[in-house]
Amino acid sequence: MAKIRNLAACALNRLQKESQLEIPEARIEIRALLRHALGDASPAWLIAHGEDTIGEETRHHFELLLQRRMQGEPVAHILGQREFYGREFAVTPDTLIPRPDTETLVEVALGKIPQAKEFHILDLGTGSGAVAISIALERPHASIVAVDRSHPALVVAQNNGTRLGANNVRFIESDWFSALNNQSFDLIVSNPPYIAQDDIHLQQGDLRFEPLSALASGADGLADIRRISASARRYLNPQGWLMMEHGYNQADKVAEILHQDQYHNIMTIADLAGHGRVTMGQKD
Ligand code: GLN
Repeated sequence: MAKIRNLAACALNRLQKESQLEIPEARIEIRALLRHALGDASPAWLIAHGEDTIGEETRHHFELLLQRRMQGEPVAHILGQREFYGREFAVTPDTLIPRPDTETLVEVALGKIPQAKEFHILDLGTGSGAVAISIALERPHASIVAVDRSHPALVVAQNNGTRLGANNVRFIESDWFSALNNQSFDLIVSNPPYIAQDDIHLQQGDLRFEPLSALASGADGLADIRRISASARRYLNPQGWLMMEHGYNQADKVAEILHQDQYHNIMTIADLAGHGRVTMGQKD
């Protein structure tokens, strides 16, 4: 019977050496899979119980999870969840896997939303609902409309909203603004697809398992950002803000698009890695 510590070390070795994947966070991933196999053991429990032996059934369960990871499946899909802004969100192959980069979008948005006042927010392409729900829970007085054109994604988002107690988010099936009629907002946020459609990264790593419609956007990755920028003005209240996440090297281009569409006070905010990640502009 194997000790937990040895099992983890052996699995790490296999994941790094035998799989063809490059996994920078392999150690963290092994721990996550092991905790899951142990019935959602806490990180502290795992550290304290390294010398425990593991039962055959648990070992077998862990082996199946490890096999899936070695075939390339993202850990977030294997576990069915991903932590974002301090909360666990259910994710499926129908949604983008929330990224730490996108917490920048949440933080920048929160900076514009008053604490104790009504405020109307639109989240375009909500996916798992991570952005909309995180904002909603931090600003209970705000009301948020979260749209996605993917029905299966909206089901995931809706369930996340209910489970996490975000009562101030309304989920609507809409291709960007198509189903919004004459609603208007003080703030529009979006983490749209922004990868160039022939970018080789789309054939690599976790991205292969995520919906292409949430990742790729035309020849230069900016097709949806252009569409959103052009239409958003019509749905913004006076002095309302449009705020979009984009690729690490797209800040200048996004700022230019916003400028051409006559937004003011255009600004880019960097993510924790120092890359310009969120660009925003204000309507007159
Ligand atoms: N940030 C993601 C990536 O580069 C892309 C997400 C998106 O297109 N919105 O993997």
